[in-house]
Amino acid sequence: MEIPTDVPIAEHPFKEYFKGFERLPAVREIFGNETDRVLQELRVEFFSSKFGYMGVSDEDGHLVVSAYYLKNGDPVSKYLDIVHELVHVRQYREGKPLFDESFEYHERPTELEAYSHAVKEARRLGMSDEEIFEYLKVDWMSEEEVRKLSRTLDVKPPPRRVHGERVR
Ligand SMILES: [Zn+2]
Repeated sequence: MEIPTDVPIAEHPFKEYFKGFERLPAVREIFGNETDRVLQELRVEFFSSKFGYMGVSDEDGHLVVSAYYLKNGDPVSKYLDIVHELVHVRQYREGKPLFDESFEYHERPTELEAYSHAVKEARRLGMSDEEIFEYLKVDWMSEEEVRKLSRTLDVKPPPRRVHGERVR
């Protein structure tokens, strides 16, 4: 038998699949004058799995996106996730560590910066604090961690639910 050590990874030009992002103020705010060049150079790799959404490779900074999520995800969440991930693309180019394990996910500076761009765009879209809070919920954060992240981002968490009822 044989197990390969170097396999091809299918990467595509970001702009071939994600159109018009270079024109969005939310994206230009991330990259400034470099917006056109960065998006021109950016590559995207699609993977097929029900688990996971999007990320940025810590090996070379390309975007990694779940085909399943693109097909089944909520459109607004997908859009805000792309804004979030593009912040990580910039951070990678700046040499910042994207997965600094000395911080919990919900307190990691690179995540807070990425979420702050996504939340700002969510507000511009007219989303309420409760809707943004729902967006922030992901399966790798506990309820307490989401609430903490939410408060850090100035998104007011909804009242806690007990036995399915709102607590006043
Ligand atoms: Zn992130």
